[in-house]
Amino acid sequence: MMEKEEKWLFALAIILLITDFLIVLVSNIIPQITLKDGNIILNLGDTFEEPGYYASRAYYDMTKQVLIEDNINTNKIGSYKVTYTIYYQGQAYQKIRYVTVLDQTPPTITLKGNTTVTVCPNKKYQEEGYESIDNYDGDLTKEVETEINKDFIQYSVKDHSGNFTSIKRFIKYEDNEAPIITLHEGNAYSLYIGESYKEPGFQAIDNCDGDITKKVIVNSNLDTNKKGTYEITYEVTDSSSKTTKESRKVVVLGPKPANGKVIYLTFDDGPSSSITPELLDILKEENVKATFFVLNHGSNLDYLIKREYDEGHTVALHGSSHNYKQIYSSTDAFFNDLSIIQNKVESITGEKPMIIRFPGGSSNTVSRFNPGIMSILTKEVNMKGYHYFDWNVGSGDAGEAHTPDEVYNNVIKNLGNKNNVVLMHDYAGNYKTLNAIKRIIRYGKNNGYTFERITMNTPEIHHRVAN
Ligand code: ZN
Repeated sequence: MMEKEEKWLFALAIILLITDFLIVLVSNIIPQITLKDGNIILNLGDTFEEPGYYASRAYYDMTKQVLIEDNINTNKIGSYKVTYTIYYQGQAYQKIRYVTVLDQTPPTITLKGNTTVTVCPNKKYQEEGYESIDNYDGDLTKEVETEINKDFIQYSVKDHSGNFTSIKRFIKYEDNEAPIITLHEGNAYSLYIGESYKEPGFQAIDNCDGDITKKVIVNSNLDTNKKGTYEITYEVTDSSSKTTKESRKVVVLGPKPANGKVIYLTFDDGPSSSITPELLDILKEENVKATFFVLNHGSNLDYLIKREYDEGHTVALHGSSHNYKQIYSSTDAFFNDLSIIQNKVESITGEKPMIIRFPGGSSNTVSRFNPGIMSILTKEVNMKGYHYFDWNVGSGDAGEAHTPDEVYNNVIKNLGNKNNVVLMHDYAGNYKTLNAIKRIIRYGKNNGYTFERITMNTPEIHHRVAN
């Protein structure tokens, strides 16, 4: 039996032993790191958000002591490590999480031109171009593969991560356009009885077949020995069976007047409601045909252009605006201005006028702000098939003449043994000319002149160009 004191000592030794054992036991437990969610996959450009972790040793929470290190670059494809470390008793304990950054976005393909195109049945589609851009690889245009199918073209491309894009361009093989026939020198022609008709020429162009002028079939009922109005038709059919027909009106005038005794009355700047109707009444009464170089006035005066045409006068072109600064600023400006009035007259009469008079005449000096423009325009209008007319008898009715007597005298003193092209005006309020016209006609008739309207066959009267 032990003494009481011995028992105590023994118990103490046991306690110390157990404590020591526990200390050794606990100190041998290593820290544990636990990662939530394990390895992670990210898309390019995403941000890495730590999913969470926990660290402990025995029951002691060591989370706050975890050191984290990573080299993640989410703008670059690759596999990255996140290292979680705890130091304990000079020893490092680690866990690793792998983060993979992937490109999962396919490249884009952008087509130049339309996604549905119409192509002539006899033609191949001419590639209009395309572009491919990838978010990671950049420009992949050169790697686009095209596959031509019957009704579409397939464009495909893969980026370096294997993401694939494919789009289509649809092709319709159709010819929706009829050919266009252009009649040179316009669609009106006139000649004197017994003269021969000289075809001014024509051209047929088709969007698919090109120049098919040789396929044009010309038909005509023209009899140059009989006064009247005839039609020459031009018809052409393209390879898609689309047909276009144009016609030229041919007027066979009466006998050719004796040379040198012709008066061409010309009226510029109209029509006007105050002058033109009465002027037309007088011309009708006197059975005289004249030429009107019209401007683009309001559509309320269109009926006068129609009346001029219907009553057998020549409707010719002066211009749309008569604004010198504008029309003589460039060749384009001039022809734009001219085409406005030309289209307007054609829509009213059905005839495309090719006879013109330059505002101010070809000899004008008002265009000198643009040096040389008249030298260019006089050549260009000829090249485009226009006939331009100045005048060789001035009436002064837009200048120094203030009374019907002055207008009358200016005209008759300048008439001669020639083609007399008389410049007058039917602008609004020009009563002096209206009141002189009957006397001028009477004078002409009494002195052996015939009155004619200007046609494409009339010899052109040109001034000397001064700019
Ligand atoms: Zn004028």
